[in-house]
Amino acid sequence: MMEEHILVVDDSPTIRSAVSFCLRNAGYEVSEAKNGKDGLKKLESMKESRQGLALIVTDINMPQMDGITFIKNVKKSNFRFLPILFFTTESKKSILEKGRAVGASGWLVKPFQPEQLLWAVKKLVWPK
Ligand SMILES: [Mg+2]
Repeated sequence: MMEEHILVVDDSPTIRSAVSFCLRNAGYEVSEAKNGKDGLKKLESMKESRQGLALIVTDINMPQMDGITFIKNVKKSNFRFLPILFFTTESKKSILEKGRAVGASGWLVKPFQPEQLLWAVKKLVWPK
């Protein structure tokens, strides 16, 4: 059986590997990207087979392409129906509303515990 596949997009190598580690430990397959631009490239390479992609997890503050722009682009792509969970350091309402407005399904405020991440992921991941 193919594992549910999650794309993790974050410019911080530390956060990216912590998140990936946590998800892999929970049995998910994980791909990583270091900013929105890189994330779109990864999606482009998966577009034929979809590779079991079931969720995108993305940071908001990133160089080259931030999370809001990335989400907007995903919503215009073949992957527009994929649920998207985003991370932010700001719990400001404006950021959360912006995320919602561009089509994100949920968010986590950093720093978060592994259990919070897994809870949110389990809730959002696309059922097969
Ligand atoms: Mg960042």
